[in-house]
Amino acid sequence: METVDTICRMCGRYCPVNVIVEDGRVVKVEGIPGNFVTKGKVCGKGMAAVQLEYDPKRLTHPLRRVGERGSGEWERITWDEALDEVAGKLLEIREEHGAQAVVYHHGAAIQHIWPYIQRLMNLYGSPNVAGHSHLCHIPRMLGQVATYGGMPQGDYAKTELMLMWGHNPIYSSLLHYGRQAMEARERGAKLIVIDPIFTAIASKADIYVQPRPGSDGALALGMLNVIIGEGLHDREFVEGWTHGFDEIVQLVRDYTPERVEEITWVSAKQIREVARLYATTKPAILEEGNGLDQHTNVVQTARALAVLRAVTGNLGKVGGHVFRPDAGTRDITLRDMRPEGVESITKNPFYYRVTRNITTPHVVDALVTGEPYPVKALIVHGSAMASIASNSDKTLEALKRLDLLVVDDLFMTASAEVADIVLPAATFLEGSCLVKCPGAGPSPTADTSFVGMMKSAVEPLGECRSDIDFVFELGRRLGYGEYFTSPEEIFDEELAPLGLTTERLMDVHGGWIKEHPPGEVYMDRGEMGFKTPTGKVELHSETLEEMGYDPLPRFVEPAESPLSTPKLAEEYPLVGGVSLHLGLFTHTQYRQLPWLREIYPRAFVEINPEIAEGLGVADGDEVYVESPRDRMRVAAKLTEGIDPTVVSVAWGWGQPYAFGDLANVVTDDEERCPISGSTGNRSFLCRVVKAEGA
Ligand code: SF4
Repeated sequence: METVDTICRMCGRYCPVNVIVEDGRVVKVEGIPGNFVTKGKVCGKGMAAVQLEYDPKRLTHPLRRVGERGSGEWERITWDEALDEVAGKLLEIREEHGAQAVVYHHGAAIQHIWPYIQRLMNLYGSPNVAGHSHLCHIPRMLGQVATYGGMPQGDYAKTELMLMWGHNPIYSSLLHYGRQAMEARERGAKLIVIDPIFTAIASKADIYVQPRPGSDGALALGMLNVIIGEGLHDREFVEGWTHGFDEIVQLVRDYTPERVEEITWVSAKQIREVARLYATTKPAILEEGNGLDQHTNVVQTARALAVLRAVTGNLGKVGGHVFRPDAGTRDITLRDMRPEGVESITKNPFYYRVTRNITTPHVVDALVTGEPYPVKALIVHGSAMASIASNSDKTLEALKRLDLLVVDDLFMTASAEVADIVLPAATFLEGSCLVKCPGAGPSPTADTSFVGMMKSAVEPLGECRSDIDFVFELGRRLGYGEYFTSPEEIFDEELAPLGLTTERLMDVHGGWIKEHPPGEVYMDRGEMGFKTPTGKVELHSETLEEMGYDPLPRFVEPAESPLSTPKLAEEYPLVGGVSLHLGLFTHTQYRQLPWLREIYPRAFVEINPEIAEGLGVADGDEVYVESPRDRMRVAAKLTEGIDPTVVSVAWGWGQPYAFGDLANVVTDDEERCPISGSTGNRSFLCRVVKAEGA
C-alpha cells in the first residue's frame, strides 16, 4: 500500500489530500492530518473521487464521428490519428479563415491548465479563448476591479461581523471559508445572511434577509441610504481614499428604505436594522457569493456592495477585506507572441481586458450569425458547454454548424455527442500538474498564497491522457515544439521567481505557502493605494465611464421579472432560478457517483408549500418548470425556506452519462448584463405544473 500526497481537483478549492493506492488502484482519498487549511478533512465529493476514477462510463479511447452529428456512430482511433487530424484541420482553417476562426473553450474542471491553453492560442494566433466565467465569479470581480482595482479577501480569522450575501460557504467551500466562518461564529462574530433561499449558513445567522432574486443592488443602495443618512460611514476613509462620494450621496437619496421595500420585498425596518448593524460593528467583512451571479444586473450589484465595504471603512484592515498579492509566479502565456490587430468576438471589452477571455454566449452568437466573423472550429476541453450555457437547446444547435468540434472530457457529455473528435481525459489522480490558481487555491488565511503539485497517483485508465499532455501534444503538432518542450520545464520557469523548482515542489508535503508581509496586505501597516485610475476607491468608476458604461452603481431591474416584463409575468408568475448549487457536486459533474447519488438521487425544485398546495403538488411529486424557452422535469421539494413567488432549481443533472433533464433549457441567453455578458439564469419568469403520471 502506498500513500501519494497530492491535490484534489474534484472542485476548484484544490485541497491537499492523501491518496491511498493498493496494487496500482486508488482505494481511498483522505485528508492530510494537520494540514494548514483542511485540518485533515476531506469533503464528500473528494472522498467520491475513488468512484469517479473507476466509473464504468468513463471515456477510455479517442473516437471519430462516422455518422450524422449526434447519431452516436463512432469509430475508435489512436491518439496519433486524432492529434494529427485535429492539428491538420486547425492549420487549414487558419490558412483559409484566419486563426481567429478557432475558439478554445475551457471549463472550470481544468482551471489549473488555463495558462497553458492561453500560451497555445497566443502562439496559434487566436484571441478567442472562451469559458463560462460570465456565470461565476468574474462579473463580481469586474465590479470590484472597477471600484478598487482588485478583488480583496475577507479576513475571517479576525473579523467581528460576517455579512454573507448570496454566499453559502458551507456548500461552496466547506473546508475553507465554510470552516473559517463557523470558527468565527464560535468565537462570537455576528452573522447576517442575505439570500433569497434559506441556506445552511442562513440557519446559523443572527439576522436572515430574504430579498427578491435579482433585487440585491437596490437593497445595497437602500443600506447606503441609511448608513450615509445617519452618518454611520467612515468619514476619514471616505475623505482620504474614495472618489465620487458626493455622487453616491445623490444616488442613494432616492433609495429610501420604504422605496427599497417595494423593489426588494425586504421590510424597511429590516433594511435599517441590517444597515446599522453592519456599519457599526468593526471590523466587518461583506462576503458575496455565486448567488449574486447570473443576473442581468450583476456587475452594478457587485459595485454597490463594493461601495458598502468602502464607505464603512472595512478595506485593507485587519478583520476586514485585504488585498492579497498573487504568489508571484512568472506569466508564461506568451501574450506578446500573438499578432496585434486581430480582435476577439467578445462584446464585453472590459470583461476581455480583465480576463483575456470571451464568454459562451458570444461563441454561440458568432456561430448563429457569422458575426463579427465566422467561427469554424471549436475545442471544448473539460467544459460541459451545452449544459451550463443558457438556452441549452440553442447552444446544441449552434455547435452543429461547426466545421470541426473537438471535445476532450472524462465522459460523453451533451457537447461531446455532437462532436467530430472525442478525446478521453485523465482524472486528477492520473497526471501531474502545477497548481497556482490565485484566489481559488487553498490559502489558509487572507494574507497567504499557495502553490502546489498535483501528482499522478495511478496510471491513466485505458488510453486516457492528462489535460496538460493534450495541450502540449497539440502545441507540438501545430509547430510550436520549442515552446512545449515539457510541462516540467515550463513549471520551472513559472516557479523561478519563488526560488522553487518542480522537483522541490514535488517534495513539499501538502503544498507551499507564501506569507505576505503586513505592509503588502494591510493599508494601515503600509502605503498601499488602489490600482484604479485615481489611485482611490472609485465610487464613481472612471474606467466604466471611459468604456461607455454607467459610472455609478445604479439599480436596473432584471431583464425578465414581474416588474420589468409584467405582461409575461401574467403567464409565468413565478421568479425562477437555476440556482441551487449543492455542495456535493461541482457544476454538472458527479451526479452518477453512487455515494453522492444516495444523498441526492435526483434533480429537484424548491417550492413553497403554499404555492404547491394551489397546484395540487405534494413533496416528491414530478413537476415541470416551464419558461418561455422550454420546460424541464424535476421533483418538487416543498420548503418554507423560499418565498411563495419564487422557485429554485437544483441544477446540473441531465448529462447523457448521468440522468435527469438539462436545467438550462429554461434559461434565456439573449438578455445579458451589459458589462459582463451574464445571463439571467437566477432571475427569470417561469411557472410550475404537475407532470403527467405524477
Ligand atoms: S473541497 Fe473540493 S478540492 Fe477540497 S476535498 Fe472537497 S472536492 Fe476536493
